This record gives sequence, C-alpha cells and structure tokens, in this order.
Amino acid sequence: MTRPTDDCFAHGDRLMTAAEALDLIARVARPVTGVEPVALADATGRILADDVVSSMDVPPHPNAAVDGYAFFHDDLAAEGETVLPVAGRVPAGHALDRPAARGEAIRVFTGAPMPEGPDTVAMQEDAREAGGKVALPAGVRRGANRREAGEDVGAGSAILRAGRRLKPQDAGLAASCGVTSLPCREPLKVALFSTGDEVTEPGEALRAGAIYDANRYAVRGLLEGLGCAVTDLGILPDEGPRTRAAIVEAAASHDALMTSGGVSVGDEDHVRQAIVDEGALHAWYMAIKPGRPLMLGQIGGVPFVGLPGNPAAAMVTFLRFARPLLLRLAGAREVDPLVFAVRAAFDRDKKGGRREYVRVHLERAPDGVLEAHAFAREGAGLLSSLVETDGLAELPEDMTRLERGGMIDVLPFSEVVG
Ligand code: AMP
Ligand code: MG
Repeated sequence: MTRPTDDCFAHGDRLMTAAEALDLIARVARPVTGVEPVALADATGRILADDVVSSMDVPPHPNAAVDGYAFFHDDLAAEGETVLPVAGRVPAGHALDRPAARGEAIRVFTGAPMPEGPDTVAMQEDAREAGGKVALPAGVRRGANRREAGEDVGAGSAILRAGRRLKPQDAGLAASCGVTSLPCREPLKVALFSTGDEVTEPGEALRAGAIYDANRYAVRGLLEGLGCAVTDLGILPDEGPRTRAAIVEAAASHDALMTSGGVSVGDEDHVRQAIVDEGALHAWYMAIKPGRPLMLGQIGGVPFVGLPGNPAAAMVTFLRFARPLLLRLAGAREVDPLVFAVRAAFDRDKKGGRREYVRVHLERAPDGVLEAHAFAREGAGLLSSLVETDGLAELPEDMTRLERGGMIDVLPFSEVVG
C-alpha cells in the first residue's frame, strides 16, 4: 500500500514470499485474549496459557506391569524352576499390609502396588501355581515387569507448555497428575463477513448474476476448528456507510475481523475503504498461487484479514497465513502444521519465484509408497476441488519443473482443518 503508516502488517510493494509472510506473522502477532480456568473435561481444543507442573509422581507408587508373581530376584535359581509359597495377594487399588519376606512370592495384578521388598515380577503366563506354591522359571531379568514411581512424570516436572493446543492425551496426562482444571486462553472472538453484491445467503432466491455465499460457511468451520468464537455477521453489500458502520462496530467487540472477497486489484470495495479510513489496510501481494493478494490490516488496533473471494484461494490463504496469525493471536505457540514428503504421481511445469499450492488426493501406489495425484482442473473457484482432495502439495519457489516420481511436500487437510 502507498499510505505511510506504523501498522504492524505493513510491507513494501514487492511480492512477498510465503516465508516472509509467515516470518512477519511470527514477529508481530501476540496473544490478545484473556486467561480463564477451564475444567479438564472441557479443555481439549483450548490453548494453554501457562506451563503446567505436576505436583506428584506418576505413577505415584512402584507397581506391577503385568498379572503375575512378585518376588525377590535374589531368590531365583540360576537354572531350573524356583518354587516359592504364594504368601499374599495384591489386586490393583490395594496394598499388602506388611513387607514381603525373602523366600515368598506375592500374587500381584497389573497396576497393583509392589509389595515392599520384592524387586521383580514374573508373568503369570511363565509361572505355574498349584497347592499354594508357584514355580517360577529361571532367567527372569532383575526388575522385570515392575514400573517405578515417577517413571511417566516426576513430581515438579513441566508436563504441558504454555501455548499448546490441548489434545485429548494432554487432558489425560493432566488428569493422571490429579489436575482438575487448566489455565486456558479465552477463545479468540472473530467477526466474520462475506462481501459483495452478488453474494447471497443460501435459502434466498438467487437474482440474476448472483451466487450463493460459500466462503462464510467454509471459513466459519475453519475458524471454529481453531477454537475461535465466531460471530457470523452475514454479507456486506457494496454500500459505504452500512459497511463502515458494521465494521467499526464489529471491531469494538471482537479480537479480529475476517472477510472474504473484494480483494482484487483496483476493486472499488467498501470494506477496503472503511478500513483505510478507520485504521490501516495493506494488501500483501504474495508470490503464491492461488491466493494473492491477501488483505491485512487493523481497525482500532483489531487485526483485520481479508481473504480472496475465490473459494479455493480463500482456503489456501486461510490455511497457510490466516491460520497461524489467528492461532498466535489466540495464544498458541505451535502453529506450523506437519507437512509430509509424498511422491508425486503427476508432472508439472511451474513458474519460478512463486510457491504453488496444488490440490491433491493421496493414494498408496502398488509399491506401498504414498502418492499425490493432482486434481484434474485448476480453477481457484472450484469448491468441488477441495471436497475431492486430501490436501495441498506445496511446490517451492525455486522449482520450475516437477517430474513425476519426485518427492513433494503435502499439507493434508486433516492436519489443519477441524
Ligand atoms: P473477489 O475477490 O470479490 O473479486 O471475488 C472473486 C470471485 O470469488 C468472484 O467470482 C466472486 O463472485 C467469488 N466470491 C466472492 N465471495 C464469495 C463467497 N462468499 N462465496 C463464493 N464465492 C465468492
Ligand atoms: Mg467481490
């Protein structure tokens, strides 16, 4: 943009590379949301605000890893069977009311606290019990089938780091440490608009030249998948005062604004004008296909993201750029999705100097290697292309020709959607 400004998203007129955009986002986007305690049962999907330290050892006590017999390893003969009296029985959740003595075996079950004394457990499958005695085989390793206190988590150690998007297994780990609630970021409040006189709400009659609003539904799901609290503010008509009022009002009560459409070069767009007048707006002309430009700015200090109108371009720019921006605003630290190296089942000539995102579906080839097949048609408007594919192949800036059989990076939708 030409207008001089101190906006944190400002960038020169040169085409911006994907790496530069991600780097700029990482540098300027800071958490903007408050912190609240969240019950463990509701914490999955939330973003952790502080490190969590365990106050206890997990497991809390040494215990048997299998059903079997606890005994002193020193009692085991080097060869042949060792026969010991079965002098006690400890199910999980109970404890032997006395220390075990040398020369005796204690029947134990998985998870049962180790009786005081024995250092080793023989699996019941390897033992023979009859008449109150058990025959143990030679060769059981000292300490076998015994789990130590704190071998999973040591008291005082950090189990989860601030900025983590909590997964079910994180809730499980926190629960194992006796934690009942976690300090989480409040959900990022995002106001969502579509723009354009042609864009029509599904369910309404379609006027001549109109289309139904696809982006608001797709983008809403993407936002909710990130844990955002979305306010659906409908479709903005191409009408100055109403657009300005809607945007200014939304900025007053949200942490971020998101629109789609109206970002074409030279577009006479009222969203653009409202944000230029009330805040600052930049178009990042990105060296990517599909998707340039991406509008970024702020209004009253609230970040604004304008996605392209073409649904496939909106999806690519959302997943690659808006997603890490929003996650950082929401307090997340790990925002880079896993990208997988996959064999290309297609070849392609490509312009150097820009990153291209090719919609691909994944299939295992007869030799067992996962292969990416390009979607047959390329239009940035094709929503069906997103439904029928599994992810985006990212062809790097320095590539000008992809040969079939070469390895390419693929971002599966499953990594970033939902
Ligand atoms: P624009 O970025 O506004 O120039 O839009 C580019 C293309 O995307 C045009 O064909 C628009 O009609 C289409 N488009 C814009 N917004 C939407 C939307 N919400 N849903 C589906 N298509 C859209
Ligand atoms: Mg438009």
